[in-house]
Amino acid sequence: GFNCGIVGLPNVGKSTLFNALTSTAAAQAANFPFCTIEPNVGRVAVPDERLDKLAEIAKSKQVIPTQLEFVDIAGLVRGASKGEGLGNQFLANIRETDAVVQVLRCFEDENITHVDGSIDPLRDAETIETELMLADLDSLERRIQPLLKKAKSGEKEAKEWVAVMEPILDGLRDGRPARLFRPDDKEMDALKIFRQLQLLTAKPILYVCNVDEESAAEGNTLSAKVAEMAKAQGAASVVISAAIEAEVAQLEDAEEKQAFLADMGLEETGLSRVIRAGFDLLNLISFFTVGPKEARAWTVRKGSRAPQAAGEIHTDFERGFIRAETIAYDDFVACNGEVGAKEAGKMRAEGKEYVVQDGDVMHFLFNV
Ligand code: GDP
Repeated sequence: GFNCGIVGLPNVGKSTLFNALTSTAAAQAANFPFCTIEPNVGRVAVPDERLDKLAEIAKSKQVIPTQLEFVDIAGLVRGASKGEGLGNQFLANIRETDAVVQVLRCFEDENITHVDGSIDPLRDAETIETELMLADLDSLERRIQPLLKKAKSGEKEAKEWVAVMEPILDGLRDGRPARLFRPDDKEMDALKIFRQLQLLTAKPILYVCNVDEESAAEGNTLSAKVAEMAKAQGAASVVISAAIEAEVAQLEDAEEKQAFLADMGLEETGLSRVIRAGFDLLNLISFFTVGPKEARAWTVRKGSRAPQAAGEIHTDFERGFIRAETIAYDDFVACNGEVGAKEAGKMRAEGKEYVVQDGDVMHFLFNV
């Protein structure tokens, strides 16, 4: 599965957000397989109205959403890269994640102290980015030494690694994150090396602005500043009120939830927006399998081919892949289901090279 690590300075609302995320999922546990893997790891359902629509058309008995994993990574403080706080353990945990969700405190509350004495989300974001850059710098400086020697004596592979690492090192020394030095998609070998470096500042970032309850719908001046910064970095940002999310997560009844949200001027929970933004951040898309037994959403990276998608369901499907019968989501709905789509000539037979599109309804044929 794919996962997002939740990071942030102490007292910004990370745990509140994480608990709301996982307790909402727990409340829905009857409908789909959910588990808390460890106290700080939770799998949540990715909300997708299309899946409900497909299930309605196919009269599926069960609806199974796709899932995304969130990891609550506590312990980041100024100096983490030098071993302060949980330091190195903390950084190792981030290394394992696919993307970083950075919670920024955008609410004032005199009773809840800020580690740096005042509320300033841009400064906080910089504090965190600096720690991550220092950790990357440290890791690269250690790893490049033996490679430089090998490169000098003419080893081809070492030369390739050095060529990728040097511009990143220079950038980090200038205070620029590794993601700015990602090799072009066409340079496949360089890109592979870049990925293997597992740099913290190469991971995509989603900023979550935790605002006071009154600002949940519109955001506030602080969250507006974060949005501006995110835009300049090509990152994403979402406004939520963790306090509201915690309250909504306690409500069992769906209508009660909706009424509570409407009272706050919200159409959906902030959690839904965080989950979907996380999904986009990871460059993921969904495809569906639909039948009378179940309608189910699955996740693949954008650009995945049909056999890879089949492999998400079962490794045998990938190994013995013959072809995929595919109906685009819109066609499935417009033709009122598989039979109608088939009659209208909207069911396509796709082979090994087919690049799966977001929303495809798929049926795989395979050899055992
Ligand atoms: P963490 O250290 O980042 O995990 O922060 P917590 O989630 O433990 O939150 C720290 C404190 O801030 C707790 O007392 C929360 O109840 C409070 N808190 C979290 N979110 C909000 C919020 O949106 N508004 C207000 N007023 N307090 C919040």
